[in-house]
Amino acid sequence: MALLQISEPGEAPAPHQRRLAVGIDLGTTNSIVAAVRSGVCDALPDHDGKLLLPSAVRYLPDGNVLVGREALAAQAQDPFNTLVSFKRFMGRSFQEARSGRAPYNFVDAPGMVRIRTVQGDISPVEASAKVLSALHERARETLGDDLVGAVITVPAYFDDAQRQATRDAARLAGLNVLRLLNEPTAAALAYGLDNGAEGIYAVYDLGGGTFDISILKLSRGVFEVVATAGDTALGGDDFDALIVDDWLAGIADAATLDKQDYRKLLVAARQAREALSEAPVAVLDAHLETLGRLSRELSAERFAALAQPLVQRTLVCVQRTLRDAGLDATGLQGVVLVGGATRMPVIRAAVRDAFGLEPRVELDPDLVVAMGAAQQADLLAGNKRAGDDWLLLDVLPLSLGLETMGGLVERIVPRNSAIPVARAQEFTTFKDGQSAMSFHVVQGERELVSDCRSLAHFELRGIPPMVAGAARIRVTFQVDADGLLSVTAREMSQGVEASVVVKPSYGLSDDEVARMLADSVALADADAQARMLREALVEARRLYESVQAALQEDADLLSAEERAAVDAAMAAVGALDDSRDVEVVRKLTQALSDATDEFAARRMDRSIRAALKGRTLNDIA
Ligand code: ADP
Ligand code: MG
Repeated sequence: MALLQISEPGEAPAPHQRRLAVGIDLGTTNSIVAAVRSGVCDALPDHDGKLLLPSAVRYLPDGNVLVGREALAAQAQDPFNTLVSFKRFMGRSFQEARSGRAPYNFVDAPGMVRIRTVQGDISPVEASAKVLSALHERARETLGDDLVGAVITVPAYFDDAQRQATRDAARLAGLNVLRLLNEPTAAALAYGLDNGAEGIYAVYDLGGGTFDISILKLSRGVFEVVATAGDTALGGDDFDALIVDDWLAGIADAATLDKQDYRKLLVAARQAREALSEAPVAVLDAHLETLGRLSRELSAERFAALAQPLVQRTLVCVQRTLRDAGLDATGLQGVVLVGGATRMPVIRAAVRDAFGLEPRVELDPDLVVAMGAAQQADLLAGNKRAGDDWLLLDVLPLSLGLETMGGLVERIVPRNSAIPVARAQEFTTFKDGQSAMSFHVVQGERELVSDCRSLAHFELRGIPPMVAGAARIRVTFQVDADGLLSVTAREMSQGVEASVVVKPSYGLSDDEVARMLADSVALADADAQARMLREALVEARRLYESVQAALQEDADLLSAEERAAVDAAMAAVGALDDSRDVEVVRKLTQALSDATDEFAARRMDRSIRAALKGRTLNDIA
């Protein structure tokens, strides 16, 4: 009997119909394109056999544009028309870009920053598109015209604006983006698939302009990003800047340097630094317009000392990420090094010490991201192979929550939760007969709303009237695979509902994320104090309002003397609003509670009697 052969959607029905897709590592310094062909993953070379394309674009007066090594070679000689490291400015405003140390003529325009060149004002998106076009061309020459699309990698901490800018660049380059993939995740894919090893791994990625650390769990072909952190302003470039600072420290008229000369010093510093990965001493050498020739030796030892602050910054990030993942370094199976700058011996030594493990470098740290992206692209293009049923999980960079009474944050989805994720929590009304509730969605790690980032406000109306605390309002937070958050509030007895959709990461830079996290750690104690105070004040307010309502209805139950005592306790609590002392708030609240105990008991009696009036015992039983 013949069996029917069923082909799942997305599964390649036959080898000759294999669809080709590429993975692109669009790096700050270097970019690479890779593809899976006949089951083998390779980076694609240019005409000279070179795999790395420097992410450099030079705009010439005649309208021509050079990309890659040719452009990079002119960096010092034609700095204003030769753009490098523009990935740092993707999706960034003039103000944000200018605060860096890049020696460009930035143009103050609304929206994304532009850089003035002989060919006009160029945005980082356009420059990136030139790099992507060159790689697209390379892919077409190697693979033919059947290219269905590309997976392009971005730093894990890229926010929405930066991711959107990357997509725009790809569109300008005529590429169909199958997916944006986080760089460390791509690296782990390349390693995980090649080795099939299970366990928890750290991916330490230090490139030219960005640092990423991710903790990944690999088990039975499923990758989960347990935690991730990073710094978009920390990479090889920053080590170069430290070398230049040190170099200039000994030079009297360093202040007269112009941007072009500064650029030359950076180029010289980078050459020396890369040489130090192989040799104990390197020469710093530059011919400057302003100061003539500067030349000096730099020892590996001196460099290691200079580099320490930056190395430590990466390790602080590592420790925090491990803590978030609930791990210490000993729980790790391995550490994967990614990015050209991890060739620096000082980095390898620091990573070895921090993890107590020999870092893994089997795959070329320059290529590993592009290879992982290529494997993912192959899969997304529909070339699913047996056993290829892994999926990728990403995580939330910051916690999501709601404002509750007293300006406090109730955390609903904790940071580093794997997405997609859905979490629900029940809330109730604060006042009798309350028919509407307003919700304030916030993002951040701090206890007080005023210290977190406001994402959205919305209202739930039509709550049926009930006594305070009786209504059940279920609030659900849902974050989909693209990081899109929707929050829904539903009144459980009648099902009235309201919701809002927000992009949690929108407009939030790495620096902001990093600052918010740093603040939450540094201020945890102060926050706990503030939270206790707010909670005590909310409790005081709640009691005050309920006594006030009770007095309106049943004041006749109190003698004049008793009433005076209650009024005095009320006045004391009523005046608490600006109090800073949690003990005082608690004491006065307790006093009011004590002063009204008897009153509450009498009210209870009265309402029971009212309820029973005119009914026999049988009715009640
Ligand atoms: P990106 O991801 O930012 O494009 P790469 O992974 O290509 O960056 O890394 C570029 C960085 O790697 C540069 O700062 C470069 O100086 C550094 N680098 C490359 N090779 C070496 C080396 N042998 N020693 C030290 N640093 C290196
Ligand atoms: Mg990189």
